[in-house]
Amino acid sequence: MKLSVLGSASGMPVPDRNCSAYLIEVDSQTYLIDAGEGIARQLVRYSVGSDQIDEVFISHVHSDHLSGLFMLLQWMHMTQREKPLQIYLPKGVLPGFQAVLAYFHIFQEKWPFRFQFLPISEGLVFSCHDFQLSAVSNGHLSGNKDLADQAGVGSDSYSFILSEKGHERAVYTSDVDSLAHLTAHQEGVGILISECAHLSVDDVIDFAQQSGIPRIILTHIPPEKENLVLSDKQNPMSTAIEWAFDGLVIEV
Ligand SMILES: [Zn+2]
Ligand SMILES: [Zn+2]
Repeated sequence: MKLSVLGSASGMPVPDRNCSAYLIEVDSQTYLIDAGEGIARQLVRYSVGSDQIDEVFISHVHSDHLSGLFMLLQWMHMTQREKPLQIYLPKGVLPGFQAVLAYFHIFQEKWPFRFQFLPISEGLVFSCHDFQLSAVSNGHLSGNKDLADQAGVGSDSYSFILSEKGHERAVYTSDVDSLAHLTAHQEGVGILISECAHLSVDDVIDFAQQSGIPRIILTHIPPEKENLVLSDKQNPMSTAIEWAFDGLVIEV
């Protein structure tokens, strides 16, 4: 499984990083995880065709993870994509999401391809050939629960576990309140792709070391953590730690 980082920024706009987006290529399929602002341009920049993406998975509906979706659909329209597209969204927003599209003048009837919205909830979300994507619910949006319930949009938010048969698993935390929800899912994980905007880097390292995860990619990097240098004391077990950047490609 190949993972390309297309957006390593946090929710704060910065000149050299795009908002959250990751491309997974496995079994001749291409999946987009999160579609932060600027994703269509990033796909053009990295020569990914508009007909190449098979499925889209949105971890939660903050703008830095979702707002590129509208431009992505516009780009696919303008380039005359024909292949159907499945877009997985947190189940809480699904009932009213078609109505949001109308505000962007995105009308299924006028699009050259079929797109379909499907719900993400806890557990297995998607599987194809040897690849599986599962969701683990986290509390990142729980502080908005009352207002979100009133608005009828839900407050569910997910981390994703990416598995390919015969390989170690990868965990993409997306945005979280802590890593406690992942403790039950640490077995067989070879790589932790973790945000570091709502978590301290020390918390991420501690979690990986307690879970026996040998490799960390730090992403969703806020401006104040740019150029942060880690001491040996912070990483006592010498876990392999890399800082993500837009364009980083790793084999998982
Ligand atoms: Zn975010
Ligand atoms: Zn968020």
